[in-house]
Amino acid sequence: MTLSVKAYGAHAGDRPLEAIDISRRAPGADDVQIAIAYCGICHSDLHQARAEWAGTLFPCVPGHEIVGRVVDVGAQVQGFKAGDLVGVGCIVDSCRHCQDCGDGLENYCDSMVGTYNGATADAPGHTLGGYSEQIVVHQRYVLHVRHPEDQLAAVAPLLCAGITTWSPLKHWNAGPGSKVGIVGIGGLGHMGVKLAHALGAHVVAFTTSESKREAALALGADEVVVSRSADEMAGHAKSFDLIINTVAAPHDLDAYLVLLKRDGGMVLVGAPATPHPSPAVFNLIMKRRTLAGSMIGGIAETQEMLDFCAEHGVVADIELIRADEINDAYERMLKGDVKYRFVMDTATLSA
Ligand code: NAP
Ligand code: ZN
Ligand code: ZN
Repeated sequence: MTLSVKAYGAHAGDRPLEAIDISRRAPGADDVQIAIAYCGICHSDLHQARAEWAGTLFPCVPGHEIVGRVVDVGAQVQGFKAGDLVGVGCIVDSCRHCQDCGDGLENYCDSMVGTYNGATADAPGHTLGGYSEQIVVHQRYVLHVRHPEDQLAAVAPLLCAGITTWSPLKHWNAGPGSKVGIVGIGGLGHMGVKLAHALGAHVVAFTTSESKREAALALGADEVVVSRSADEMAGHAKSFDLIINTVAAPHDLDAYLVLLKRDGGMVLVGAPATPHPSPAVFNLIMKRRTLAGSMIGGIAETQEMLDFCAEHGVVADIELIRADEINDAYERMLKGDVKYRFVMDTATLSA
């Protein structure tokens, strides 16, 4: 027996998202059935739904910043019960026995199953995401949400934007005494600023938008650089320990590599559909600089990030939208016209 669920999704890359009915598997012994309250809108959702990345499977129901309440649990589920506030991020399954899974880094498992567009035995043969009323997920991939309930909508973006910036900040040891740059003050970037600040780093926000200068300070940045200004950029030459680059479009990486000090590193998390121009090798060689990438984060570190945020009162700055506003929200996201994350109120799916 399957569950019939209302959702919002796309039938083709060149078609808008629309209301569709989908099914979810009935919860098995290890499953948690979740009534979704809110789902954040990630730029990855747009890349996937519009088939900007290769391999989109249709119908495509995006959404991997999911928060809600447990409805029911299978017989072998431990640690979750009906009524609990929970989250689901970008991962709903993995092999559970490789080195990466053993290390708690399921995000790097070769068999990682994404919350949408991933392989599954469930209809229609690929996973369907959080722009929907309910989801059924194996307990291993469900997170506890310990924030107050009235912050729930603003917690949703932590499940992707939060963990995607948290993971490299922790891996590259951002904290007191380190100077961290965050490039692109969108959904990921604004969380990067908040988290780096909460970890005690000196934070510099890089934005192309003059209009975000004041706002980035309010998010917790110690300094803001409008990256179109060569003078402002030059003022930070050879000074950063770590730069996290969230920009969703190809651009000149050299402009940032020269801001790293010796042994500094820039981590790319933005995933543009076409490549960046190749950086100048000498900008890496001369100061033993590193250029790296990072993908979301594992389940254990996602829980660690959520608990840190609950303890430190960190949530996203959001704009709540109705399900039928999603196509406009995508257009506004492309223009950088969001401060700083859209979140869908899934109660409006049945309105
Ligand atoms: P977003 O909210 O649209 O933010 C991207 C920001 O980049 C913009 O707000 C803008 O900030 C800046 N930007 C500068 N030039 C741009 C341009 N030409 N086009 C677009 N943006 C430009 O997107 P997001 O949700 O934060 O996602 C950012 C990227 O990360 C996407 O490619 C997404 O797919 C990827 N992503 C990767 C992972 C991962 O695991 N690595 C996880 C989630 C998302 P300013 O106005 O401040 O310049
Ligand atoms: Zn995402
Ligand atoms: Zn694995």
